[in-house]
Amino acid sequence: MKPLSTTHISIVGAGLAGALLATLLARRGLDVVLFERHPDPRGSEARSGRSINLALAARGRHALQLAELLEQVDRFTLPMGGRLMHSEWGDLTRQPYGASEDEVIWSVHRRRLNRLLLDAAESTGRVELRFGHALTGVNWARSRLQFAHGGDAPFDRVLGADGAGSALRQAMSEETDLGAREELLDHGYLELTVPPDDHGDFALDPGALHIWPRGGFMMIALPNEDRSFTGTLFLPRSGDVSFERLSDWMHQEDFFHLHFPDAVPLLPRLRQDFAEHPVGILGTVRCRRWRLGDRALLLGDAAHAIVPFHGQGMNAAFEDCAAFVDLLDDTGGDWDETFRRFEAERRPQANAIADMALENYQVMRMAVRDPVFLLRKRLEHELERRFGDRFVPRYSLVMFHRGPYTDAYRRGEIQAKILDRLLDGAGTLEEVDFDEAARLVTGRLQPLPRSTVPDV
Ligand SMILES: Cc1cc2nc3c(=O)[nH]c(=O)nc-3n(C[C@H](O)[C@H](O)[C@H](O)COP(=O)(O)OP(=O)(O)OC[C@H]3O[C@@H](n4cnc5c(N)ncnc54)[C@H](O)[C@@H]3O)c2cc1C
Repeated sequence: MKPLSTTHISIVGAGLAGALLATLLARRGLDVVLFERHPDPRGSEARSGRSINLALAARGRHALQLAELLEQVDRFTLPMGGRLMHSEWGDLTRQPYGASEDEVIWSVHRRRLNRLLLDAAESTGRVELRFGHALTGVNWARSRLQFAHGGDAPFDRVLGADGAGSALRQAMSEETDLGAREELLDHGYLELTVPPDDHGDFALDPGALHIWPRGGFMMIALPNEDRSFTGTLFLPRSGDVSFERLSDWMHQEDFFHLHFPDAVPLLPRLRQDFAEHPVGILGTVRCRRWRLGDRALLLGDAAHAIVPFHGQGMNAAFEDCAAFVDLLDDTGGDWDETFRRFEAERRPQANAIADMALENYQVMRMAVRDPVFLLRKRLEHELERRFGDRFVPRYSLVMFHRGPYTDAYRRGEIQAKILDRLLDGAGTLEEVDFDEAARLVTGRLQPLPRSTVPDV
């Protein structure tokens, strides 16, 4: 086994996962070359890119803390304590995310976070950043990465953090069957701008994630540091109510007046946003294999892109980075063993969050406006208040805890049955039989391991 410091690591993709992983590896004494197809986002050529802001939660925060970057990141994050639902009639319903007030998720600006991560990688003195390098293929026999501009570069080991459409995944698939499946969602998304109001203030409550659930579709909005919000319309790509039908301003305007009347005054750039912003594609990537021996490994979206409805893609990608370096430490720098264990341990996790993210779309656009669902949420929080060492809502296990996603999924199923039973015949919280709740919770749920309790 080579000592860590003599191995050269190439990472493809200087997005969120690639830049964080480069920093974590460099801090362990490794030399890293980071290839990115786009120009340096810290320079003037920077593109505005997609999904302007993201929800950061415990898993992502933990990985940033490992890299000693959380404090810096928190200078530009905004806490969101719950969902604020907007009905068709403009009524607002607030629903806290957690059982306690400090259980919040954080809105973070993607490009600003990416720039900070690149600065951090560069400041290690061990990461060489090569922008304008779009990987197109790999010559495995000669150990060379090939790029769109015609150049190539040697590599010892290559890590693919090049996102959902990963070119490295493609190049690995040509060498071995990864069993890669790309499942496209039949809904797309469009980003919309909610500028600050006339006084330069937030036009909506910045302490919440806003949702306009409309059954078959929805709009959400997250706050930005400059007091604007970024709205995202999620809608079927084709069909009766779809992006396909919103092909001109007349239809776009009518659609918004009909379904989101309270949001219309907040969206003065709606027409330009429709004209200038592309409709984004959403999907899930699942692979049976994430590695090619000890030479190449996929992580983040390249290995397991998921739909954004649980706000976990970046968080899971950051958790990958933390898990990877933990394994590297644990195996004493044995790459083969690290790649093998990473794939074995993270793949089930990725599949579990992929499924929960798909389910959460249903929850966000349908259930959040259903009074039965709201009662269920209140009961979940009440059970957590009473039996918090065993009962923690699945959403909280995913967002505020760091136990395996697979456990969150499994506990979620048991808890759903407990809730069904307790709400059978109960129309209010007062009508719930909490003696039975105690019996069910202690009988069916093991205490949560202490290590999953949130620390950041
Ligand atoms: C609308 C939307 C909302 C989202 N909201 C959230 C959220 O709230 N919370 C959350 O946790 N996640 C969210 N996500 C998911 C999140 O954006 C991704 O999971 C995250 O960006 C994954 O990080 P990554 O580094 O793996 O991939 P990316 O961020 O996609 O980075 C990949 C990098 O590789 C580069 N690259 C691509 N191809 C090549 C190539 N051939 N050669 C060289 N470089 C290449 C790209 O330019 C990019 O810089 C959202 C996603 C979308 C689409």
